Amino acid sequence: MAEEQEVVIVGGGISGLATAVALQRLGVRSVVLERSDGLRTTGAALSLFTNAWRALDALGVAHKLTSIYPPMEGGSVTNLETGEELLTNLAGNRSGMGLRAVHRKMLLEALAEELKPDTIRFSSKLASIRTEVLKDSSTVVILHLEDGTIIRAKVLIGCDGVHSLVAQWLGLAAPINSGRSAVRGLAIYDEGHGLNYGANQFLSCGKRAGLIPLNDKEIYWFITNPTTPREKDMANEFTRDPSLILKEVTDNLAKEFPQSYLEVVEHSDLSSLTWAPLMLRNPWAILTGSNHKGTVTVVGDAMHPMTPDLGQGGCSALEDAVVLARNIGGALRSKENMSKVEEGMRKYVKERRWRVSGLVLGSYLSGWVQQGGSGLWGWAVRIFRDRVFYTFVYPRISAAVQYDCGVLLPPEV
Ligand SMILES: Cc1cc2nc3c(=O)[nH]c(=O)nc-3n(C[C@H](O)[C@H](O)[C@H](O)COP(=O)(O)OP(=O)(O)OC[C@H]3O[C@@H](n4cnc5c(N)ncnc54)[C@H](O)[C@@H]3O)c2cc1C
Repeated sequence: MAEEQEVVIVGGGISGLATAVALQRLGVRSVVLERSDGLRTTGAALSLFTNAWRALDALGVAHKLTSIYPPMEGGSVTNLETGEELLTNLAGNRSGMGLRAVHRKMLLEALAEELKPDTIRFSSKLASIRTEVLKDSSTVVILHLEDGTIIRAKVLIGCDGVHSLVAQWLGLAAPINSGRSAVRGLAIYDEGHGLNYGANQFLSCGKRAGLIPLNDKEIYWFITNPTTPREKDMANEFTRDPSLILKEVTDNLAKEFPQSYLEVVEHSDLSSLTWAPLMLRNPWAILTGSNHKGTVTVVGDAMHPMTPDLGQGGCSALEDAVVLARNIGGALRSKENMSKVEEGMRKYVKERRWRVSGLVLGSYLSGWVQQGGSGLWGWAVRIFRDRVFYTFVYPRISAAVQYDCGVLLPPEV
């Protein structure tokens, strides 16, 4: 016996929960299928820029987080090889909507607690998708879960991350490895860290590292580096040994970074440490690919995985959720013909594809230029970075974080 559902969202990460909240605000119920047995918070923290706060405001949850996490008051990028400060106002806009670092767990909980009971179903892994054309020539999506459950859905929204099954079903190009990786962690100071609220970054020998305080006691840190053979075992979510990751960062990856940075790394909560390869989808494939088919589409990393060099993956996933709900919410609420929902998905993809493919490209180029490299080519890239990129290019790219995805107007009752 198959279960019937109107709207199924696969994935209970940032995009899945935000999409469910956005639809619910427009009076549309959905079911979120999450393969883990609870909210999954790999990566400990993330930075959220103005565009994310605007989207969270539209979702009605921004106030829960802005009341806990202070905005950054400044920030810098320093070239450790020359000692030169290349950028002095990294945090940009310091208003209430400015850059803040937040715990991933808090962001997911803030979204999840908005949802009506039984919206999220944990331990529910989507295994395969097929479609069936009905007598009235409408199409139903049939979802087979790993535990044997079968769900017949009118609408399927894939929020299942970089290795999305829904994106594969849509025929989107496979994500590619950038050849770079990142280690992230959370340092904890029970007595207070005493640092200013600034997002400070350091560049050296093909690597980029950064520190962003979350509050008075916790600092989020990261380092990005060209992928090394040593990280193969350390990147595995289930078999990794955090103490080996910490040792690799302090003894090798970050050994030439300032003592103040290493001290923060050494204060890490071991359970927060992760090492991940940086993936992206070719921006051209996002622009020209089939991001929706009938009443099936993708949101967040499932559509546009990007390297984290502009801190925009999660921020743009929140924008997606608002824009998608705005385009399909009305048709779903009024139980209109599914062709209206299909039309709404077409508009959603049209509205998003230029923006997100631009972010994927901008992130990739920023990461590539910022890390510099070795040899004659690396030298030329570093000259470009220090003399041209931070003065003329970066301000234009980073203006993208001011984007306003607009509001959601709840139905009048
Ligand atoms: C090193 C690094 C640093 C980053 N820093 C930032 C930052 O500072 N700011 C920012 O905005 N972004 C940042 N990002 C990007 C951000 O983490 C992602 O863009 C964001 O997590 C995407 O959310 P999502 O919900 O689309 O995907 P995910 O977070 O991957 O969530 C997908 C969910 O789907 C579930 N799932 C997958 N397959 C199935 C299935 N078959 N059935 C059921 N459930 C399934 C997974 O368990 C998961 O919970 C960073 C990324 C990295 C790698």
